[in-house]
Formats: sequence, structure tokens, C-alpha cells
Amino acid sequence: MKVSKKILIVGAGLTGITLTERLASSGNNVLVIEKRNHIGGNCYDFKNKAGILIHKYGPHIFHTNYKEVWDYLSQFADWIPYRHKVLGFFDGEYAPIPFNLNTLRKLLPKQAKDLEKKLVEKFGFNKKVPILELKKTKDKDLKFLAGFIYKKVFLSYTEKQWGLKPEAIDPSVTARVPVVVSQDDRYFQDKYQGIPKNSYTKMFERMLNNKNIKVRLDTDFKDIKEKVKYDLMFYTGPIDEFFNYKFGKLDYRYLKINFKTLNQESYQLAPVVNYPSLKYPFTRITEFKKLTQQNHKKTTIGIEYPGEKGFIAWPVLDEKNKRIFKKYWIEAEKLKKQNIYFVGRLAEYKYYNMDEAVKNSLDLFNKILL
Ligand SMILES: Cc1cc2nc3c(=O)[nH]c(=O)nc-3n(C[C@H](O)[C@H](O)[C@H](O)COP(=O)(O)OP(=O)(O)OC[C@H]3O[C@@H](n4cnc5c(N)ncnc54)[C@H](O)[C@@H]3O)c2cc1C
Repeated sequence: MKVSKKILIVGAGLTGITLTERLASSGNNVLVIEKRNHIGGNCYDFKNKAGILIHKYGPHIFHTNYKEVWDYLSQFADWIPYRHKVLGFFDGEYAPIPFNLNTLRKLLPKQAKDLEKKLVEKFGFNKKVPILELKKTKDKDLKFLAGFIYKKVFLSYTEKQWGLKPEAIDPSVTARVPVVVSQDDRYFQDKYQGIPKNSYTKMFERMLNNKNIKVRLDTDFKDIKEKVKYDLMFYTGPIDEFFNYKFGKLDYRYLKINFKTLNQESYQLAPVVNYPSLKYPFTRITEFKKLTQQNHKKTTIGIEYPGEKGFIAWPVLDEKNKRIFKKYWIEAEKLKKQNIYFVGRLAEYKYYNMDEAVKNSLDLFNKILL
């Protein structure tokens, strides 16, 4: 007979909740502790005073090519079919982001035809080209285009987002928003995309709806770690904090979001509008009802200010931090012998999308418990 284990999950974000659901469904007793006053981590959403569903930690669009992740979450949520489109505001003009052939036609109408031809010849139609790769091209016209896109779309935006130049951050980060050699305006090209019909939070509540699960909010690991007993622990908080910063603090980029509810039905042309120029101190504005297709007389927007204040949003993946993280990870690996596992975007110091958080949790569950 299978013996049920006592399991502690630190952090009720998507990673912790996925592990909790799997572990409880296979008969284990799971205690989840969360230091915030709500579940869901950075995917948490709620209805504000005006009754508009907003994403407290910035717009979250679910997208994946992993069928197993889509099928897994679809047990707990129906989806609003959604194809994310983003506009950039460039000197009074709106044009699609990622930069694609439509953006080119809008911002450089006279040169567009020739540049389009050269782009297709060099890279192939529908290819996605990281800006740092485009900048390496020798052709004089493509070099001009690369410089134009770099300056208009990437340079100031990256400085606002990261406090760094695009070259100073991990190339995987700028490659997330490539130059697209087609007219495909979609922000994500994944096969499965959507937003849970009844909110992310409802989806999480359904995942946690099992008599084997106990959730304790407003509970920080550091306050209970000496008291709680477990056979197995999964830690999804910041790894440097767990080890009491013994190798130094890891840098994070923080995010402050200024929410405003306006007495008007609509605020902007798209759910998300990016403001790459340094003329604006913020990076982007989200109009939440356009993400979730809500009808309401009012509208709520969220204006994002990345910097040193707010909540932990992204790891700073430069060489210095990668070196520090490596030291922590060696310590974390040793703790596996004591049945302690580090998983999730804070514990693994990675820039994970939601689907990767779920995929990693499902894989870890399968690896450990089969
Ligand atoms: C602004 C923004 C927008 C994003 N948009 C998208 C998107 O559109 N699509 C997409 O796929 N992904 C998006 N993401 C990524 C997505 O948020 C993450 O993939 C997901 O939240 C990862 O879940 P997690 O559980 O690993 O981490 P988290 O959501 O950070 O959860 C970790 C939890 O652990 C808790 N915790 C930490 N320390 C302790 C402690 N000591 N004790 C107790 N609890 C603790 C935290 O409070 C938190 O609730 C976005 C991220 C940000 C910041």
C-alpha cells in the first residue's frame, strides 16, 4: 500500500500550486505556505472596486506549445480564446510590436518595399530574427534598418525595463521579442493561447480543492521553518533568501504598477501599448477589460514602472548574477539528499513563462514520485 507523505510547499504561485495539486491528488498531505495574503503568486487576479477583473502583477497571457500543459490546466479552467497583440507608441504613431513588416510599412513607408525584399532574401519569410543578430548584418540597408529598430524599439525600452543596454543583458531576453519577417502581428506564436474564463484565481482555487491540502496565507517560511515537520519540501521562494544571502544578494528587477479606473468605456487601441521612448517614464500600459473581453462602463488601466521598487518581477541575468546563482544552486543540489527541492522562477532564478512553470512542476513530480 502506498504510504502518504507529509509535504511542505513554500509559495502558492503557479509552480507551488501545480506541485500541490499533483501531490495531493496522488494521496499525499500537503501544507502550502504563502507569505502574501492571496494565492496565485504573480498570476493573481481579482475584481477591483469598480468590478473590473485586473491582474495585480501585470498582464498575464497564457501561451504554450506544450500540449500536456494545456491539457493539464484545461481540467481546471475554460479559456477565453485570445491572441495577444501589442502596439508601440512611436512619436505619435501606433505600430505593431514585435517589429514586423506592418511596423516597417508604418514607420518607414518610403523605404519599406526595398527593405522588406532584403529582409526576406537574407533571413527567409516568416523568420524571427533577434535584434542583436540583425545588427550584425553587413548589407548597408539592413544595417540602417537594424540601427533604426534598435534605437526605436529596443534601446530606450530596455534601459527603462532593465536599467541596462540591450548588449548587457542575456541575449535570450532581447530574443524574446524578435524582429518578425512577415505581417504576423501576434505577440506570441504558440499553438495554445488563452486567458482563463473565470480568472486565474478561480483556476487556482479549483486546483487546490482537495481535502489533502491545507493553505496558510500570510505565512513566511523563515518564521515557521524550525517548527514545521515534513518528509519532502518544495521551495519556490528566492534562493538567495533561503541561504540567508551567504554568497551575496541576487539582483532583481522590480515593478511598480499604478492602477487607475477611468470614467470612460475605452482608453487605448489595444490591450497593451508599449512606450519605448524615454519621453515616458513608464514602459507600457495595460487596459485590462480588453484582455478579458469584459463589458463595463468604466475601464481600469495599469501603468508599469520597472526599477528598484515594487514586487520582484524579473531576475537580472547578467554575468555577475549568473555567477552568484551558480554558487547557490550547488548548495541547493546538495539538499536534494534531504528531500528539499528548489523549483520555480525565484528558486531557479529564471525568466520562466507560466507554461514553463507548469511544465517544470509536472516533470519534477513525475521524476520524484514515479
Ligand atoms: C509583469 C509580469 C508579466 C508576466 N506576464 C506573463 C505572461 O503574459 N505570460 C506568461 O506565460 N508568463 C508571464 N509572466 C511570468 C509568470 O508570472 C511566471 O511564470 C509565474 O508567476 C511563475 O510562477 P512561480 O510560482 O514560479 O513564481 P511566483 O508567481 O513568483 O510565486 C512564488 C510565490 O512564493 C511566495 N514566496 C516567496 N518567498 C516566500 C517565503 N519565504 N515564504 C512563503 N512564501 C514565499 C511568493 O509570495 C509567491 O506567491 C509574467 C511575469 C511578470 C513579472
